Amino acid sequence: MPTTVSEVLRVKAENPEATVVAGGTFLGVLTRQGLIQSDDWISLQNVRDLRALHTAGDLSVGAMVTHRKLETDATVQGIWPGVAAAFRAVASPRVRNVATMGGVLADADYASDPPSMLVASRAVAEVASVRGTRRVPIEELIIGHYTTTLEEDELITRVVMPRPNGPSVYRKLKTRSQEDRPASSVAAVVDGDRVRVVVGAVSDRPHHFADLCATWRPGDEGNAREIGLAYAERIEYIDDARGSADYRRRIVGVEIKRALMAVTA
Ligand SMILES: Cc1cc2nc3c(=O)[nH]c(=O)nc-3n(C[C@H](O)[C@H](O)[C@H](O)COP(=O)(O)OP(=O)(O)OC[C@H]3O[C@@H](n4cnc5c(N)ncnc54)[C@H](O)[C@@H]3O)c2cc1C
Repeated sequence: MPTTVSEVLRVKAENPEATVVAGGTFLGVLTRQGLIQSDDWISLQNVRDLRALHTAGDLSVGAMVTHRKLETDATVQGIWPGVAAAFRAVASPRVRNVATMGGVLADADYASDPPSMLVASRAVAEVASVRGTRRVPIEELIIGHYTTTLEEDELITRVVMPRPNGPSVYRKLKTRSQEDRPASSVAAVVDGDRVRVVVGAVSDRPHHFADLCATWRPGDEGNAREIGLAYAERIEYIDDARGSADYRRRIVGVEIKRALMAVTA
């Protein structure tokens, strides 16, 4: 098993068809369902550098940092509470103990919790290959359901986000079991007197509308309702077992209003 990032990149460049395995929670489901059949795996388990978490200055999260680590780290809870909340909202402790930052971004499942909060937090992924390293904002990394802008030989090595200059709120709406994926996922992050609202899990990718956020008046419930309704109108919704498109259109407006009021409470 590779123990360094450069070793992973070399092996991946030589075997572009090989599948990178992080926590294995998503790949495990796909393998059991027969949706992928691979004999060639590259495990990241022994790559220690990918497990680094730095909280001095910006938040720097190695690709192999688990959801549980982000949920429980005291500094992340204190300075990036919305990020801790979004990772805490995922599944059960059993899943969160192994699922990783790199895995949730690379699988680009529309029904994941963290992406909306990562986009709202202005997170940027560091992506590496033998050809070099590039930095990709999360909204440019996840471009559709199961679709990213990652090249076949590229690895997410870490995700960096700035210190917030204000509160943040994450709201997950579940329509089935307590451990289910979200029917809607709303993140609101305040920076000074501005807010960044991102809606996930209702469409093929997270949505942020800067022009609507620019109309925000902190603490004004009528204004929060208007922003929610305007967001709700602009999104093209997915119909699935967690809710119809019509249901989602209705709840997105309400969830945004609640997030905007909570973020100034
Ligand atoms: C029972 C269950 C319930 C769940 N409920 C929720 C939920 O409520 N909310 C939610 O958000 N999610 C949920 N999930 C999804 C879970 O969080 C994801 O499966 C997880 O984030 C994927 O992380 P992983 O480390 O296990 O990825 P893996 O399964 O190891 O990999 C996922 C994909 O990413 C690729 N990959 C992994 N790491 C990298 C990297 N560093 N660079 C490039 N590509 C990489 C892999 O090749 C693979 O294609 C649930 C999963 C399960 C099994």
